[in-house]
Amino acid sequence: MDRVLSEAAVCGEEAALFAAELIRVPSVNPPGDAYRECAELLGVRLEADGFETEYIQGPGSDPQRPKINVLGLRRGRSARPALHLNGHIDVVPPGDGWTVDPFGGEIRDGWLYGRGSADMKAGIAAAVFAAEAVRRSGVSLRGTLEISGTVDEESGGHAGVAHLTQIGRVTSRTTDYVIIPEPFSPTRICIGHRGVLWFRIVARGRIAHGSMPFLGVSAIDAAAEVALGLREAIGDLVTELPVVPEGARRPTINMNSIVGGQVIEGLDSSAALDGHGQGLPSPCVADQCELVVDRRYLLEEGPDAVRAEVRGVLDAVEARRPGIQFEVEELLSVLPTHTPDDCTLVESLVRSIEATTGTAADLVASPGTYDHKHFQRIGGIGQCVAYGPGELEQAHQPDERCALSDITRTTQALALTIVDLLS
Ligand SMILES: [Zn+2]
Repeated sequence: MDRVLSEAAVCGEEAALFAAELIRVPSVNPPGDAYRECAELLGVRLEADGFETEYIQGPGSDPQRPKINVLGLRRGRSARPALHLNGHIDVVPPGDGWTVDPFGGEIRDGWLYGRGSADMKAGIAAAVFAAEAVRRSGVSLRGTLEISGTVDEESGGHAGVAHLTQIGRVTSRTTDYVIIPEPFSPTRICIGHRGVLWFRIVARGRIAHGSMPFLGVSAIDAAAEVALGLREAIGDLVTELPVVPEGARRPTINMNSIVGGQVIEGLDSSAALDGHGQGLPSPCVADQCELVVDRRYLLEEGPDAVRAEVRGVLDAVEARRPGIQFEVEELLSVLPTHTPDDCTLVESLVRSIEATTGTAADLVASPGTYDHKHFQRIGGIGQCVAYGPGELEQAHQPDERCALSDITRTTQALALTIVDLLS
């Protein structure tokens, strides 16, 4: 174990340099740039470390932007047990507010900077160099180790992990354990996430002159009542799952957008002031209003209860407001996930974290979702967690950064767990 830890300490430094190389490939999603270049950079590294590599193109590719996933396989003496380490190679666009080059991969004062440093190129590098530390320490593995870099996680993962699980490449028939090195910090293991339902709700009313609104039926008024009603309806259940931050331990609801009435392109509010009123909407009661709602629900609620809750609110508003009709369309549904605390994978990582950091591991769950859902729901792999360097709060921010010490400590813990699970 000491030999693995000391090799992993050296490998942690090399992992930071490799993460910087990955950051310099701007694999930005949307639109999905440079996936091939990023996958090949990872593939070449995996081959140098003794992995057999395979490239799998996901659906929805076009010739300019092929959705290339890469997998590296290192066979042990037997096919099982099999551990799969997976990271997404895509990053979100940099946005404004940076004081460093988002694609420079700069290392300064103990930090690695750049888009994807925390979310999650440092995590991919930690996985690769944890495997390398095990190889250098000369431990012979009984089971199989696989590492993948996949696309499009930031937009749902359909061409990435969802595709690999759908085609049977990574499922419970091939794989026992999955670790996704998303940025949860070196002492926290993420064991699952809440569920998601997105709805589009269209309210339809009746148009009338704006000076006599009582002659019409306002779709905007009805939509406003729905927005408030949905918020009141979510109740105050608290989940057993250790979701962080604390506020996400209850159900939450967010109105992603609300659009109603006449939508005037290039509306100029100063037009009213000059007395001409050009560019203003005409005075009408809104006959249509559309809401997009993001409802995050708890493991204890389930999706059907949420659907019934939404329907209940709409029925009540329809009953109170004659002439209003609602249409509901479900845009997205993600079931919650939960890996049991006492499974082999979680217990192994807990021991590795304690041995590496000297502190007790914290089990947490995520307020949002990530590729865990595809491994569990499509792939049928029950033992899946996220554990990786960096802080979740850094994800998608300007001047995103990851502590070099985090990269080393997670490389060490991952190396110990690879040995523990596979030897
Ligand atoms: Zn991520």
